Amino acid sequence: MFSAELEALRASGNLRRLPETVHDGKYSVVKGRRMLNLSSNDYLGLASDTTMPLMKDFLRETGLACGTDVPEDFLLGSTSSRLLTGTFDVHSRLEQTLCRLSGRQAALVFGSGYHMNVGILPAVTDSSSVILADKLVHASIIDGIRLSSARSVRFRHQDMDQLESLVGKYSTECSRIIVVTESIFSMDGDLADLKRLVEIKRKHPQVMLYVDEAHAVGVRGDAGMGLAQELGVMQDIDFLCGTFGKAVASVGAYVLCDSIVREYLVNRMRPLIFSTALPPLNVLWTLRVMENLATMGSMRRALSDNAARIREFIRSRGVVCPSGSHIIPVMAGDSHRAAAMAEEMQRQGFYLLPIRPPTVPEGTSRLRISLTAAITPQETDALISVLDRLLP
Ligand code: PMP
Repeated sequence: MFSAELEALRASGNLRRLPETVHDGKYSVVKGRRMLNLSSNDYLGLASDTTMPLMKDFLRETGLACGTDVPEDFLLGSTSSRLLTGTFDVHSRLEQTLCRLSGRQAALVFGSGYHMNVGILPAVTDSSSVILADKLVHASIIDGIRLSSARSVRFRHQDMDQLESLVGKYSTECSRIIVVTESIFSMDGDLADLKRLVEIKRKHPQVMLYVDEAHAVGVRGDAGMGLAQELGVMQDIDFLCGTFGKAVASVGAYVLCDSIVREYLVNRMRPLIFSTALPPLNVLWTLRVMENLATMGSMRRALSDNAARIREFIRSRGVVCPSGSHIIPVMAGDSHRAAAMAEEMQRQGFYLLPIRPPTVPEGTSRLRISLTAAITPQETDALISVLDRLLP
């Protein structure tokens, strides 16, 4: 799909690749050849000179490094874009690990989920494309749609029939249709019907699926790779996106995709090309968490059990609760009511905040309970008994 454009870039000498560089202070080593690095933005030499007292003392004081040698992986800044001197070995190791964990051909790591969502959609669409996005997708996806030259239509939240008819309509007019959804929606906690989306894609060759798993990575799936893993559709989603800033306890984001898509993004995705790469030390931590994600099944189960109890309780009180996850809205409707409920919950020792428009649609203000695996069954009991008094 993207090969003709990549071929044109190659022919004109403009094809970009992420460099495979080993960084050694002010030197860069490429395929065993050591060169003075004249391509970084490390203007004071602070980021790379591990012999400088400033960095050595900082790493020692924070306990991050104790010897005199500071490993490349511990560096606190990358000083330039992934395409210049910002790709460190640890970035590549993380991408390889993501491929191994997902069974996908390629992975690409970004500075944040916001960068991911504002960057991919404009890169992979043009005026002959259409983006069909769920009405409730995250603001960063909406901004990505705004930056793209594609037409766009928002379908009713989770309305697969409407989506299917839109796909039918645009499949005669558009060369590429990108269907965009979150897997666990951030404000309702409900789950996208990924299997149905894959069925729709199978019927229409122009359709590509874009799924943001920001709230599902770490939490869902046997090995914690998200809802697509849980539902067995990891190989069927063209842009399987996740973030490291939530369950993974770090910062950054990734897409799992085909190799050609990765190559295309490296050449076309502006937030990747024009923004400083994540610091190696952060990437090292992300890598550590990702390598251990599969072993955290008991935490996922505890989270899921507590969440199920709270959801069931809310429903037992006749209050609508769309959630199928650890994100559980307690609907208030009116914003004043949501604020008053949040205040009461806080008085009772539960830090909840009112979620109001424009974060959620007008008239759907709510409390948003976002559970963690660290919350005990006893704390869940206490929460339920306070909700018991609060709910009508
Ligand atoms: N996607 C979704 C669904 C999100 O909820 C968020 C953050 N709240 C993002 C992307 C942005 O991720 P990041 O914080 O890494 O920029």
